[in-house]
Amino acid sequence: MPANMQGQLLPHTYRFKLGAFEVATIMDSFVIRPGLTPSFGGEAHAEEVKALAKANRIDADRYFHPFTPMLVNTGKELVLFDTGNGSLSAEYEQMKGRLPPGNLVERMGLAGYKPEDVDVVVITHGHPDHIGGLVKGGQPVFPNARYVFGATEFDFWNRGENVREARKFNRELYVKIVVPLANRATMIKPGDSVVPGITAVDAFGHSPGMLAFTIESDGKRMINWADTAGHYAVSLQRPDLQLDVDDDKEKALATRKRVFDMVASEGLLVAGFHMMPFPGLGYVERAGSAYRWVPHSYQVNL
Ligand SMILES: [Zn+2]
Repeated sequence: MPANMQGQLLPHTYRFKLGAFEVATIMDSFVIRPGLTPSFGGEAHAEEVKALAKANRIDADRYFHPFTPMLVNTGKELVLFDTGNGSLSAEYEQMKGRLPPGNLVERMGLAGYKPEDVDVVVITHGHPDHIGGLVKGGQPVFPNARYVFGATEFDFWNRGENVREARKFNRELYVKIVVPLANRATMIKPGDSVVPGITAVDAFGHSPGMLAFTIESDGKRMINWADTAGHYAVSLQRPDLQLDVDDDKEKALATRKRVFDMVASEGLLVAGFHMMPFPGLGYVERAGSAYRWVPHSYQVNL
């Protein structure tokens, strides 16, 4: 008898040492999105984006979009960055078919972490794919955790002023999911530390107050840049193109350039929530007036 076909199998958990810390990236889920263009650059740049996709050997009409939260065990505290999609698509009609169900808790389990083990949940920004796994059926998913939210981000969604049309439901979600957790949260700004070795960096633009985070232990240093780049090829090679899901498009452009420059100059290891290929780790190289994503291969395992 021939062996059975087993279907697609993708890696979704990865762990490595950063100094005295242990870092794990977990792919919560992924979705195949229809069209890098017009999402990146609008109709005006459609042909360029199609050519760029072709040059990178990817399909401009169907692209892989992963959701990858990250855990850092400092030895004293287990810190989770973002929570994936959770049960949003099951609990909210408006989210059905738009975001896949999250698998973070189950996959964390495969890597040896229980939800009760999480001491701190850091939310980089308030978009649905980052806050969706905070609660399930109204109950906190990480029962022992305290929370860290960006003050500017929290303020924006909590006030609900100048929310663009496309983010109106996002605002409702934020009020339902995140605002009730404020009594257990620390509100931070760029430059503040979450725990010793983990420091917030201004990444405003993709959302009004998005934060990136540097993580440093025993002289080893990396950055979790959240959604500074939405796509590993297009965002790096054409950082000048506006992205439809960026809330403040001009600020997002400036932030991309500033963060990419910093990362390239320092040679920092990067983790990005939507970076490819899994485990979503890599480096940034300057390429003319733009950049290139250099996926990590074995460097963190030496
Ligand atoms: Zn995102």
